[in-house]
Amino acid sequence: MTQKLFYQDSYITTFSAQTVKQATDQAERLYVVLDQTAFYPTGGGQPFDTGTLNGVAVTDVEEVNGEVRHFVEKEVEEEVHGEINWARRFDHMQQHAGQHILSAAFEDQFGYKTVSFHLGQEVCTIDLDISSLEESKARRAEAYANSILQRNHSIETKWVKKEELVQFNLRKEVSVSDDIRLVIIPDVDYSGCGGTHPSSTAEVGAISILKWEKQKKQMRVHFVCGNRVMEQLHQKQKVAQGLTNVLNVPQVDLVDAANRLVMQTKDHEKTIDELNNRILSYEAKELLQSAGTIHDQKVVQMISREYGMKEIQKLAKTILNEDSSVVVFLISEIEDKLQIVCGRGEDLYLDMNHALKEVLPLINGKGGGKKDFAQGGGDAIRSAEEILIELVKVSLQ
Ligand SMILES: [Zn+2]
Repeated sequence: MTQKLFYQDSYITTFSAQTVKQATDQAERLYVVLDQTAFYPTGGGQPFDTGTLNGVAVTDVEEVNGEVRHFVEKEVEEEVHGEINWARRFDHMQQHAGQHILSAAFEDQFGYKTVSFHLGQEVCTIDLDISSLEESKARRAEAYANSILQRNHSIETKWVKKEELVQFNLRKEVSVSDDIRLVIIPDVDYSGCGGTHPSSTAEVGAISILKWEKQKKQMRVHFVCGNRVMEQLHQKQKVAQGLTNVLNVPQVDLVDAANRLVMQTKDHEKTIDELNNRILSYEAKELLQSAGTIHDQKVVQMISREYGMKEIQKLAKTILNEDSSVVVFLISEIEDKLQIVCGRGEDLYLDMNHALKEVLPLINGKGGGKKDFAQGGGDAIRSAEEILIELVKVSLQ
């Protein structure tokens, strides 16, 4: 068993220890076991500490059968000087204690029980056993939790036996049976917990609820504590300031302005679509007027270097709607791709799908359709003009 210094004092940042074992786990990761450590291993919702052992980086810490494994990049000496990343640890202490207090606030104010906790890299969450949460209640719980911070309660820890538990009004039943560690905020919260906490609620600094959402049958509340509140504020301020500059409205009007912009864009897109359709129908009429005759068959042919597949399809359909006795071959050539549309009016019996499939292999193409209308595309390894000649040949001769 490794002696856990973080249980004696969660403020220990440096320590000396003896190496007990160095080995690799199943994933071939090298780890060190010490006789004592200030490194907190992942557990109880709290992530592991990082830091160094004799200057060697500790990248992960896990507890396996009472043995705290420090995963390191290379082996360390027998005498070890350990140093933990205090900024990371203190952040975890703030989040963890903040969670106790926020959960206590929801339960004391409204009877909402916390069923799980996650301490994420940027944001923490608790899941409450309720199916909806009103904004006013979320804000009241938040205000109550912050008042607990401001009243500067002590945060104490106590090891107790199972039979002593009856003396304490525990928020949640504890699963450990022998030595139970209680984290106590007198008059506020009594919880079984193996995590690290600051020694007073004031050190949590602040608790801010960011949002809440339904998560299966529960409500997931996203929040941050301590220095993360400031980080969130800076992040959001940067976004708000950026948007204020771009949209040129005061911050309170940002949402309205963004909504207006989205609506306008949709309107514009609709208008552009309508105008495009009108242009295509004029173009269809022009193409029909300039249609030629090949083997007694009226044929419209065109190569476009502006239109893509969508446009030439629309153009072909418009032409066929106007004239049911015409054959249409439209090819789009953009960059190194060719797109082909072939169609024929309903009075005719030509097989456009067959014609297309005859030509597609010439351009490593893919596509297909029906007898009256087919489309496909491939690489521009042959010129559009050549392909057009081929199409006419296979379908009309
Ligand atoms: Zn805790």
